[in-house]
Amino acid sequence: MPMIFLSFYYYNAVLMHKRIRGKSPFYTFLYTSLVGILTSALAGCSASYNMIKPASSGKADDDLTSLEQSTDNKYFQQNITIPYKPAPLGFIVVIIDDMGINQKLTKKAITLPAQLTLSYLPYAINLEKQMSMARLAGHDIMLHLPMEPYDENTPLYKETPDMLMVGMNQQEIENILTNALRKIPQAVAINNHMGSRFTEWEEGMAYLLQMINNNNLLFVDSRTTANSAASRIAKANNWLLIERDVFIDHDADQATINRQLMRVEQIARKKGYVIAIGHPTQLTLRSLESWITTLKQKNLKIIPLSQLLILLQLQNRK
Ligand SMILES: [Zn+2]
Repeated sequence: MPMIFLSFYYYNAVLMHKRIRGKSPFYTFLYTSLVGILTSALAGCSASYNMIKPASSGKADDDLTSLEQSTDNKYFQQNITIPYKPAPLGFIVVIIDDMGINQKLTKKAITLPAQLTLSYLPYAINLEKQMSMARLAGHDIMLHLPMEPYDENTPLYKETPDMLMVGMNQQEIENILTNALRKIPQAVAINNHMGSRFTEWEEGMAYLLQMINNNNLLFVDSRTTANSAASRIAKANNWLLIERDVFIDHDADQATINRQLMRVEQIARKKGYVIAIGHPTQLTLRSLESWITTLKQKNLKIIPLSQLLILLQLQNRK
């Protein structure tokens, strides 16, 4: 379009020069006015054509330029103050044991507003669906491995199949662990369900921990007995082992749970992290739900077990 306009202008300029030579002033005025109007009209068309022209390949460059300008403004020309956020005073790992048996309470535990560590019993039904919901909600998964207790009246004892028993041979121990892990392949760690008797059995625990270590997994000792052999064996072999600090709901009444949650906070502040274990009961889950909302202002943070392991490894490197 500009080319047409220029050619027309040049053509008229030549004609004007020839035609107005020797003509009357009135003719000169009339002719130059006409050429001026026509040229202006053509120039106007050319301008509007450029304005309604569809986006050309130059558009991307224009966008980049404007982005650069806004980026310059935002990050380099203004004074930005990055708010200082202090690191949490302590990290809390909340393990919920016995997951997967009561589907309703399992679901409620999954919806709690924190990244928990959910320990599933391998004989629970509908495991795959339950665990994928838990993973989607950002929780860690653990294997809650049944082990023999002293007290046979322990809840869930009678209905528990495939339990590790004192006196089992290595093959039997291996079979139980392998089958359980096959059902819960997402497990980042293993802790004992019951097990006051089995975890005291040095030989059995040594073999179990060896296999857990071979699978690149971690054993979390629930410490259902003060005489557990686990930490002794782990230390002797230089294996990492985590122990439960607080049972949130060993005595399931509100006052005890509140007191235990206070202990969780105290240990987190003192040690830097704490391992708390609770169970999927209405009371525990309700208590956790309201307690979780108080942690931010106390500058304490619940993290899943896998994140704690990363933090501990980083700390060991220093
Ligand atoms: Zn349990």
